Amino acid sequence: MLRGAAAAYGRAMATHSTSALTDFRGVMIERGDPGYELARRVYNGMIDRQPTLVAQCAGADDVARGVAYAREAALPLAIRGGGHNGAGLGTVDDGVVLDLSAIRGIDVDPRARTVRVGGGCTWGEVDRATHEHGLATPSGIIATTGVGGLTLGGGLGHLTRSCGLAIDNLVSADVVLANGELVHASADEHPDLFWALRGGGGNFGVVTAFEFRLHEIDTVIGGPTFWPIELGGTVLAAYREFLPAAPRECSGFFAFVTVPPGPPFPEPLHMRKACGVVWCHTGDEAAAARDMQPLLDALPEPLLHGVQPMPHPVLQSAFDGVYPKGDQWYWRADFVKDIPDAAVDLHARFGPEMPTWKSTMHLYPIDGAPQDVAPEDTAWGYRDANYSSVFAGVDPDPANVDAIGEWSRGYQEALHPYSAGGAYVNMMMDEGPDRVRASYGANYDRLTRVKREYDPGNLFRVNQNIPPAR
Ligand SMILES: Cc1cc2nc3c(=O)[nH]c(=O)nc-3n(C[C@H](O)[C@H](O)[C@H](O)COP(=O)(O)OP(=O)(O)OC[C@H]3O[C@@H](n4cnc5c(N)ncnc54)[C@H](O)[C@@H]3O)c2cc1C
Repeated sequence: MLRGAAAAYGRAMATHSTSALTDFRGVMIERGDPGYELARRVYNGMIDRQPTLVAQCAGADDVARGVAYAREAALPLAIRGGGHNGAGLGTVDDGVVLDLSAIRGIDVDPRARTVRVGGGCTWGEVDRATHEHGLATPSGIIATTGVGGLTLGGGLGHLTRSCGLAIDNLVSADVVLANGELVHASADEHPDLFWALRGGGGNFGVVTAFEFRLHEIDTVIGGPTFWPIELGGTVLAAYREFLPAAPRECSGFFAFVTVPPGPPFPEPLHMRKACGVVWCHTGDEAAAARDMQPLLDALPEPLLHGVQPMPHPVLQSAFDGVYPKGDQWYWRADFVKDIPDAAVDLHARFGPEMPTWKSTMHLYPIDGAPQDVAPEDTAWGYRDANYSSVFAGVDPDPANVDAIGEWSRGYQEALHPYSAGGAYVNMMMDEGPDRVRASYGANYDRLTRVKREYDPGNLFRVNQNIPPAR
C-alpha cells in the first residue's frame, strides 16, 4: 500500500469495521484526501458522485479484497474500468469504487492470435500492442474507452461488420465473483457465466483479465464522406439501400455531425453541419474504392471524401481529440432492424437540430459478422437488428445540459416506434428496469437465473441491473 493510502485505510476501517482491506496493495483514497477530486471523477462531466472510498486495485487479489470489503460493510459497490459509461456507472454516491485502471497488462500471443488484457486497460493501449504484430480485435470507435465496460456490454465499432462484436471475439475471462472467489470463465469452464458476461454488463463479477481472438488487420481504409446537412434524408435513404448489399469488409456508420474546427478538415468546412458516412474497410485500397462507389454514385458530389489508408489504431483514435474527458454527455439509443421512409423523414428533421457542435447521431451497422452468432449463444439478444443508433448530446459547458438532453430525448423518443424495442445497454442512461429487460429480449430470464447463481445478493448492481431470479 502507498503512503497516503494508509490514512485513508485507517479512516475507512474506522467507519466500517472489516478486515478485508488489511492487505490491500493498491491506493485507497477517501473523501478529503488529496487526489479525491481527481479520483472520483469519471469521463462524463455531468456525473458528480461522491463515493466514500476509491480503491485503486493493484491486481486481482485487491479486487477480491475490495469486493469482500463492500459486501461485509454493506456498501454500494461500483466497478470502474475506463470510466466512460455515459450513465456514470463507474462511480457511486456513498459507496466503494473499485478502480481497475492500474490493472493494465497486455500480452499478445501472435502465434495463437490472441491477446490477454488487464481488466482496466483502455482500447488505445490494446490497439497499439496488437498493431505491432499486424493484428487487431474489434472494439469501438474511441480509443480512450475502457475494455471492461465496452466488452461486457457487447462492444461495437469499426470492425464489427467484418469481425463481430467484441464479445464474439472473447475467448475467456478471469472473474472475481461476489463471494470473492477468482474463477476462469470460458466455453468449457463456468459456461453459464461466460454466456452471461458476453453482453450482460458488469452484473456477474469483476473481470480482471480478458482474452480476445485477433484478426490479421493492420492498415484499414478509413475516414469520412460528408454531404450538406440539408441532404440528410437523401443520404440516409441511399445508405439504407447501399449498406446491406455491401460486403462485410466494407463498414461505415451513418452520422449527423458538425465538422470539427481544425485539421485535418479543410477550413471552409469548419463548424459546418453535415451528414455522411465514417468508413472502415478492411480490404485493400482498390477493394475499398470499388465497394464504396455505389453509394457515391447514388448521391450528389460530397463536400469531402476524406478516405485513405491508415494504421488501424489511427482510425480508432481519430475522434479522441474532439471528445476529451470532462464534457457533458446525455445519450439515448435503440436497436434498429429497418429504416422506413417515416424514420428517414424524422432523422432529416431532428439531425440538423443538433444543439451543440459536438452533439451527434450515429447509426452503427451490426449486420454481417454479428449475425453469424445465434441470439441465444450469448447474452446479447438482438442478433436480428441491423443497426444500433445513438443520439448523443455533448458539450463542454454545463449550461447546455438541458439543451443536449432535450434534443437527445426528443430525437430518440420520436424514432423509438421504428426501433426493434431494446437498446444497446452501453449507450443508455438510467432508464429503468423495463428498458433493461427490453434490451435483452428473450435472454433476460436466463440472465436473471445466472445472476442468482453468481450474485444472489445483487452486490454488483451499479450497472444496467439484472436482478437475480427469485
Ligand atoms: C466517447 C465514448 C465513445 C464510445 N464509443 C463506443 C463504441 O464505439 N462502441 C461501444 O460499444 N461503446 C462505446 N461507448 C460506450 C461504452 O461501451 C460504455 O460507456 C462502457 O460502459 C464504457 O466502458 P468503461 O470500462 O470505460 O466504463 P466504466 O464507466 O468504467 O464502467 C461501466 C460499467 O462497466 C462495468 N465494468 C467496467 N469494467 C469492468 C470490469 N473489468 N469488470 C466488471 N465490470 C466492469 C462497470 O460495473 C460499469 O457498470 C462509448 C462511450 C463513450 C463515452
